[in-house]
Amino acid sequence: MDFRLSVERLSRKKEFYSVCKELDAQKPASYVGGEDIYNDDDCWDFHKYCAKEFAKRGWLSLGWPAEHGGTGDIMDRVIFTEAKGYYDLPGVDVFGVGMLAPTLFAAGSEEIKRRFLPGIANAEVSWCELWSEPNAGSDLASLSSTSIRKGDEFILNGQKTWNTGAHRADWAFGVYKSDPVGKKHHNLTFLLFDMKSQGVTVRPLQYMNGKHVYNEVYLDDVRVPAGNIVGLENGGWDVVNVLAGFERSNIELVMGLVKKIEELTSFCNKTKRNGKYLSQDPVIRHRIAGVACEIEAARMLAYRIADQQSRSEMGLMDAAAMKVFGSELAERVADVAMEVLGPYGQVKHSRFASMNGVWEYAYQANFLSVIALGTNEIQRNIIAWYGLGLPRMK
Ligand SMILES: Cc1cc2nc3c(=O)[nH]c(=O)nc-3n(C[C@H](O)[C@H](O)[C@H](O)COP(=O)(O)OP(=O)(O)OC[C@H]3O[C@@H](n4cnc5c(N)ncnc54)[C@H](O)[C@@H]3O)c2cc1C
Repeated sequence: MDFRLSVERLSRKKEFYSVCKELDAQKPASYVGGEDIYNDDDCWDFHKYCAKEFAKRGWLSLGWPAEHGGTGDIMDRVIFTEAKGYYDLPGVDVFGVGMLAPTLFAAGSEEIKRRFLPGIANAEVSWCELWSEPNAGSDLASLSSTSIRKGDEFILNGQKTWNTGAHRADWAFGVYKSDPVGKKHHNLTFLLFDMKSQGVTVRPLQYMNGKHVYNEVYLDDVRVPAGNIVGLENGGWDVVNVLAGFERSNIELVMGLVKKIEELTSFCNKTKRNGKYLSQDPVIRHRIAGVACEIEAARMLAYRIADQQSRSEMGLMDAAAMKVFGSELAERVADVAMEVLGPYGQVKHSRFASMNGVWEYAYQANFLSVIALGTNEIQRNIIAWYGLGLPRMK
């Protein structure tokens, strides 16, 4: 792959970075990291504001086919995502824009695309993901919530868990058992429904940092029109596999790390300990340089995936490799920052808090990504089976 950007693309890149920089200056004081949008009203309003700014420029539909209002191509989307990640901005619904839209292009009927893509592109509709259940996470196909067909409707019952942002979402995509006696992997249906539907109850799952980001969702005879199906009845597992690839190819996380390392470096250049700048300490220098190299490698891996996506050739192994490397790198970067900052890194709201408490947040938030979107053990299994041809374990 040729990494040089054309003149035209360089100018788009400049525009992406310039708009994101302007929005960065408008962040509310309560915004420390991306998932704050679900916890805090000011942050949610800021997320919606950024989303509208992006939507009016066509940046939520970058790389979409022109007949669905698409602008630019997948590489434009990658560069926009880099800019947004660099400034750690909200404004792109990870579930709607990042996961559902590409899935609909791959697996949705024309009717479904026509109904749901405009709301994603113009930032009118927010989505959440209802997959995991108390007894079905890694082994998602063993889920037990049901969607039983009755005429022109499916009737949904059961419980979902860990549903990020479900309390803010307008609509949900999820997967349910539609054939209780059918064979595993051939008995699930992928459905979309309005979160205001009768029978939907959302309960908070408070995270250890005190924030309300995650939820449990209870479904009690929720009636969903049969027309809200994606893929085939009992063919939901195929749709899950399509979506899972989009879930795991994330350059935004990497760009967030680029910015954080720049800020940490600048902090080390300005801060003295025992009469010397932190940046003069050889151990600190080596630790920061080490993760900076890894971040650059992660960026190349993300480009490789974008290149594959643009040719519709993204393999499960590459997405899994990116997920493992990116998420564990985020943990290593937070570890390095904590070592550099010492006890000050653990303070959030105080005059002693270094760098606006960003590492206090990152240290607690970063290890989520080794679990969410499919744990890293499962990703390593995927790399072993699909990538390396090692035998599949029973
Ligand atoms: C912060 C966060 C946000 C999330 N957001 C959402 C969301 O929005 N929507 C949603 O539907 N879900 C969400 N999830 C759920 C997430 O997808 C699941 O937590 C994840 O898939 C793991 O499932 P589990 O928690 O049931 O763990 P389990 O599947 O019970 O796994 C427990 C442990 O066993 C290991 N393990 C299991 N099977 C194997 C195997 N075959 N080989 C090796 N090791 C194995 C796992 O790696 C893990 O370490 C979120 C989770 C987190 C933590």
